[in-house]
Amino acid sequence: MEKKTLRDIEVRGKRVFVRVDFNVPLDGEKITDDTRIRAALPTIQELRQKGARIILASHLGRPKGQVVPGLSLRPIAKRLEELLGGPVFFSEDSVGAGALANVMKLREGDVLLLENVRFHSGEEKNDRELAAEFAKLADLYVNDAFGAAHRAHATTEGIAHFLPGVAGLLMERELSVMGAALAHPERPFAAIIGGAKVSDKIAVIENLLAKVDRLLIGGGMANTFLAAQGYALGKSLVESDRIQVARELIDQARTMGKELLLPVDLVLATAFAPDAPARIGEIDDVKADEMALDIGPKTSQLYAKAVITAKTVIWNGPMGVFEMERFAAGTNAVAQAMAEVQGTTIIGGGDSVAAVEKAGLAERMTHISTGGGASLEFLEGKTLPGVAALQSR
Ligand code: ADP
Ligand code: MG
Repeated sequence: MEKKTLRDIEVRGKRVFVRVDFNVPLDGEKITDDTRIRAALPTIQELRQKGARIILASHLGRPKGQVVPGLSLRPIAKRLEELLGGPVFFSEDSVGAGALANVMKLREGDVLLLENVRFHSGEEKNDRELAAEFAKLADLYVNDAFGAAHRAHATTEGIAHFLPGVAGLLMERELSVMGAALAHPERPFAAIIGGAKVSDKIAVIENLLAKVDRLLIGGGMANTFLAAQGYALGKSLVESDRIQVARELIDQARTMGKELLLPVDLVLATAFAPDAPARIGEIDDVKADEMALDIGPKTSQLYAKAVITAKTVIWNGPMGVFEMERFAAGTNAVAQAMAEVQGTTIIGGGDSVAAVEKAGLAERMTHISTGGGASLEFLEGKTLPGVAALQSR
C-alpha cells in the first residue's frame, strides 16, 4: 500500500486519535447491529497491546451540529467494553478543556471514547479550527473509518493537516483488497452491477468496464439498458434521460471487446408489493401494465455461470427488489454463485451487503466492505479525501 499504516509507526506511550466508524443502527439505546464496532477491534487491540493511549472518535447519525441526546455514543462505549473485555472511558465533550483533562488521565493501553463529533457544526464543514482542536488532544492520528473516508470532515481529513496520519488495520484491509483487485486482478475478472438506478452507477460502470473482462448488469438499472436496445418495459423503472448513456456504454463494451451481460428474462409484476402476483417473462414480452422486479431464472443461470468461472468478482447492487421474498431469487442466485468462486470475491454497497448477510453467505466472501458510499467511490476510481490526507510511505 502506498499509505503508511499502523504497522509503520511507534505508538508506545503516545496519545493516538483514532477515527472509527461507530455509526451503528440504534433502537433507542439498543445497538441492533454491532458489525462496525467489531470491525474496529483489530486496530484498538493492536494499539492497546503496543501501549498507546487511545482516543476514539466517531459520528453517529445526523445531529447537524446540535447536541442530540438520542445520538450519544454512550451506549457504544458500553458495547465496546463488553467486546474488549476492559474499561472504556467516556468523554462528554470531544474537544476543549474537559476532553483534554480526560485524555490526560489515560495510561498506556487505556481507551477513551469521545462523544459524537457531529455535535459540533464544524465537523461536517471540515472547519480548520475545530480540526486543530481535535489535534490538540493527541500526538498521532489513525484513520480506521473507511465508511467515512469519502467525506472530507474535521475528524476524517482536516485533523491530518495537524497530526501525522496513518491508516488503521481495517482501512488498510479495505484499501489493499479492493486496490489489488482493481490494479492486478486474477482473470477472468467479472463485475456485477445492480441496484435501482443507472444514474447512481454510471461512474462505477465506466471505471470497471476498462478493467474487467465481464460486466453483468441487473436490478432496476438493467431496464434502462434494455430500453436502450429497443425493448418495451411497461411500468418498469426506466430512466429515460439515461437511455443514451446506456447505449454508449453498450457500444463502449463492444469496442473494447468486453462481455456485457444483460437480462434475457425477468420477473414481472403488476404492482410494487410483496404479494403482487408475479410471472416470468422474456425481455420482449413485458405487458404495458407490468414491471420488472427481478432478473428471471434463465438470466440467473447465465449470471451464475459467468460468476463461478471468474477468478476475481466484484459485486455492487442487488439484482432485484430483494427486500421482497418474491423478487429475491436473482440476488440470491448471484450471492450463491459468488460463494462458490475459487478466487477473490468482493462485495461493496450497503444493500448488496445486506442481501449477502440475509442469505447467510457473508463468511464465504473474501471481503465485505464496511463502507457503502465509500466503497462505491473507491470502485469509481476516485481518491477518497480521508485516505489522501494520510502520510505516504
Ligand atoms: P447498494 O446499496 O448495494 O449499492 P443500491 O442502493 O444501488 O444498492 O440499490 C438497491 C436497491 O435497488 C434496493 O432497495 C432494491 O430494492 C432496488 N432495486 C433492485 N432492482 C430493482 C428493480 N428491478 N426495480 C426497482 N428497484 C430495484
Ligand atoms: Mg443502497
